[in-house]
Amino acid sequence: MAGAFGTQISRTMAVARYDAGGWSTPALEKTAPLALDPAAHVLHYSSSCFEGLKAYRHDDGSVHAFRLDRHCARFAASAEVLCLPMPPVALVRSMILDLVAACRDDIPPYPGALYIRPVLLGTEPNIGAAAKASSEALLFVLASPVGDYFQGGEKPLKLMIEESGMRSAPHFGMVKTGGNYASALRCIQQAREAFGADQVLFCPDGQVQETGAANFLLLDDQRIMTKGLDSAILHGVTRDSLLSLGGELGYEIVERDFTVDQLLEWVTHGEAALSGTAAVLASVGSIVRGGVEHHVGDGGIGANAKRLRKALADIHAGRAADTFDWLTEVPA
Ligand SMILES: *Cc1c(COP(=O)(O)O)cnc(C)c1O
Repeated sequence: MAGAFGTQISRTMAVARYDAGGWSTPALEKTAPLALDPAAHVLHYSSSCFEGLKAYRHDDGSVHAFRLDRHCARFAASAEVLCLPMPPVALVRSMILDLVAACRDDIPPYPGALYIRPVLLGTEPNIGAAAKASSEALLFVLASPVGDYFQGGEKPLKLMIEESGMRSAPHFGMVKTGGNYASALRCIQQAREAFGADQVLFCPDGQVQETGAANFLLLDDQRIMTKGLDSAILHGVTRDSLLSLGGELGYEIVERDFTVDQLLEWVTHGEAALSGTAAVLASVGSIVRGGVEHHVGDGGIGANAKRLRKALADIHAGRAADTFDWLTEVPA
């Protein structure tokens, strides 16, 4: 039903436009190529940001968006750093809910989901506006039915440590913008070619941050440790959810800076994993530093990562109580 993650897009999208008159009334439209002026601000000066969240179908047929308000708030925060106009949160929220309702029949049963991708672009047709905020903008929301991320079994990931370069400019790391992905891509491509790495763990000056598209967590039977939030890393909603749940499960939650040396010491006995909306929590099996491969624990799927992922997945699926009030039911 759902193809590879992100390849299948629903027939309906939600659209709103901004110009001097303010925001248009949002509309549901047929998903189709966009008409953008070739001089549009985003095509030259990368004025764009996006979000990624999921809606899940529960066993009783009801549909629930996960941490909708948190994603809307982060979307607005990204837009602010990029000097892009953003409609009131209530409007973005209702665009998403209306779209999910319209795409309801596309949503596969759990562990499938509807992945929701809001995007905001600066569209002012002016290639002279290099040092000026775009006076026009386009906001659209796509929906994409996705299957089980670990279809065919979970394979532990191989990470390459990058200590000289960085993923993004330090003040921009918390912004969910395509520019950061463009900035990290070459490094990831090279790590894939040289070491068969799945992802690069960016550790400028030996300080562990995150990978190109996921936050990085260390786990053992007692603790969950991850870098504290600052402007250099993306403030992952999955990270936040796992830390809240981990605390409830009795883990000590440690948010602090740590070095690559401390990381390599940790993985002689503990676990490492990546968190993000797409995979929720994916175990790391090995880490390459300076061409040398280090196994993480026994190189397999970590027991604590598995336990934590299941705890969150049960909330997604409506099979555990939503004690943190993270689900928003989408009206039929
Ligand atoms: C989206 C993203 C994440 C994960 O965020 P979630 O809200 O958990 O999906 C982590 N790092 C980067 C760089 C991201 O773009």
